[in-house]
Amino acid sequence: MIISIASGKGGTGKTTIATNLALSLDNVQLIDCDVEEPNANIFLNAKIKERQDVSVNIPEIDKIKCNFCGKCSEFCAYNALAVVPSDVLVFSELCHSCGGCELVCPKDAVGWSERVVGVVEHGVAEGIDFYHGLLNVGEIQAIPVIKALKRKVDKSKNVILDAPPGTSCPVIETVGGSDYCILVTESTPFGLHDLKLAVDVIRHMCIPFGVIINRDGVGDKKVERYCQNEKIPVLMKIPHSEEIAKLYSKGIPFVNELPDWKNEFQHLFSRIQSEVKA
Ligand code: SF4
Ligand code: SF4
Repeated sequence: MIISIASGKGGTGKTTIATNLALSLDNVQLIDCDVEEPNANIFLNAKIKERQDVSVNIPEIDKIKCNFCGKCSEFCAYNALAVVPSDVLVFSELCHSCGGCELVCPKDAVGWSERVVGVVEHGVAEGIDFYHGLLNVGEIQAIPVIKALKRKVDKSKNVILDAPPGTSCPVIETVGGSDYCILVTESTPFGLHDLKLAVDVIRHMCIPFGVIINRDGVGDKKVERYCQNEKIPVLMKIPHSEEIAKLYSKGIPFVNELPDWKNEFQHLFSRIQSEVKA
């Protein structure tokens, strides 16, 4: 089963849920897809044993064949090409490697080169098969690194995908194909606002989902009321607790120190399993 953990906004405790859930289960693979700011390994401390570059294809223009007609730059929706009287400028960070410029070129002048945009790293911690991706500094396209991470999904395991925050393309890329999505929120007006956006996206993707309220006790009851009205299951509430906050600040997953929570996460997993099978 593939469970993705998402949230409409950053800082709600998505990675806390992903790591604590992973540490509570057997036969687990945890993949941190927040490639701009992966932080699951702060809690897991997996020893990284393998690294693999992630590359994308970038057009390379053959200036002998090219007649500078401009068709490629007219086609490119991402403004990654500019044709001047005797040159074609390629802005490689903007290129989405769609291949369209090659298709429209009448002179067969478009070739390809590879550009490394990030890396996928693999390690093991406390029996968890762990992957995370890192987008290179200055790169703006997270999708190729997320795709490379998702190729590592091992369906013989219980797979947990820690999604990037927000509701944009990297989240959709991560959550796509999941059997279930956990949306993590907090009971504040900001939490509710961003939860509603995330719910809209996940509903469009037709993925079953439920909500975990983190730092329960701060804010108000509007998130719960919203979930009730929308018939969204509240799967778990994690209280706003000094003990949990202190462990978090030391990078210690709270299930390791408060073992009752391990049972809670195991129950949560069984509940999700039965919902997915139903
Ligand atoms: S479409 Fe082909 S020939 Fe025309 S400017 Fe682009 S690369 Fe050159
Ligand atoms: S591959 Fe696509 S995005 Fe990249 S330059 Fe060509 S048309 Fe633009």
